[in-house]
Amino acid sequence: MTKAIRIHQNGGPEVMQWEDVPTPEPGTGEALIKHEAVGLNYIDVYFRSGLYKAPHMPLTIGMEGAGTVVAVGPGVVNVKPGDRVAYAGPIGGYSTQRTIAADRLVALPDAITFTTGAAMMLQGMTAQYLLRRTHRVQPGETILVHAAAGGVGLIMCQWAKHLGAAVIGVVSTAEKAELAKANGAAHVVIGHENLPAEVKRITGGAMVPVSYDSVGKDTFNASIDSLAPLGLMASYGSASGPVPPVDIAMLGAKGSLFLTRPSLATYTAKRSDLETTAAELMDVVSKGIVKIQVNQTFPLAEAAKAHIALESRKTTGSTVLIP
Ligand code: NDP
Repeated sequence: MTKAIRIHQNGGPEVMQWEDVPTPEPGTGEALIKHEAVGLNYIDVYFRSGLYKAPHMPLTIGMEGAGTVVAVGPGVVNVKPGDRVAYAGPIGGYSTQRTIAADRLVALPDAITFTTGAAMMLQGMTAQYLLRRTHRVQPGETILVHAAAGGVGLIMCQWAKHLGAAVIGVVSTAEKAELAKANGAAHVVIGHENLPAEVKRITGGAMVPVSYDSVGKDTFNASIDSLAPLGLMASYGSASGPVPPVDIAMLGAKGSLFLTRPSLATYTAKRSDLETTAAELMDVVSKGIVKIQVNQTFPLAEAAKAHIALESRKTTGSTVLIP
């Protein structure tokens, strides 16, 4: 038997149930893995609440984990029983064991713990593609990062600093401002009410070439108004709710702006992209350039408590669920 957190309907944290499910058999191209640690991500809230449509019900939510390969199905060549592995997607992570397409797994080096592996795959590969591909950050740039003390945020602050950029981190409290600064943010703004004016002051009127906005509805306009001409709005999350439809004429009027709504799934859909993205992440983590900060852990069975903490903005850095 396997234990899993499943939902039978969308709703608040209370819809998550800790249930017995039969241990699945790995099919062709699949591996069965035993989770040692499971990552908590904001996307788990979207699948639970219904903002993202559940592919089926009941549904084991969760997009990230690290553990050991127990068995493999026919045709699997990249992993074998006993291997230490980690992944970000597909859904099914909140479980003690799961099957997964083996080509979604990457090897977890011995030097990286299961807890770090489970914390870093989704948030860290997101930071990689945002900083290296969505907009390729250049030394000397000043860039805007929302939720700078969060999971993706703390990784972006450290990595962007390493790339030679100055991060303007946006956070909600003085404590989070200190944390973002300690992790490399050059400037911090508390709240987004006067954000464009603050960005103007900090950049001496130049504004920023890229706004990385994971907050969504509440901050979209402030992020757009913080951009320099030809700037890029990377709207990559909706922690405050989805962004309403956008009038594209506004992008012209505000300086021939670019707008993208990127997702990790697209950036790692090809195995070669997954390998490159994961390898770059493993490299900066192994060298200590990016320190993955697991600031909260919860038993997997108590995932509801973790969701309550995440949604009420009580967490900082990454959160891991322990099976
Ligand atoms: P975080 O740890 O960043 O937690 C979310 C943070 O958002 C909060 O701590 C809070 O920081 C901020 N926030 C602002 N407004 C609200 C609100 N109304 N309710 C709750 N939180 C709010 O989460 P993750 O690191 O897991 O994810 C960060 C974001 O990145 C999410 O939006 C997620 O969906 C997105 N994401 C997107 C990916 C993609 O490929 N597109 C992949 C991975 C993540 P504060 O209190 O400082 O404002």
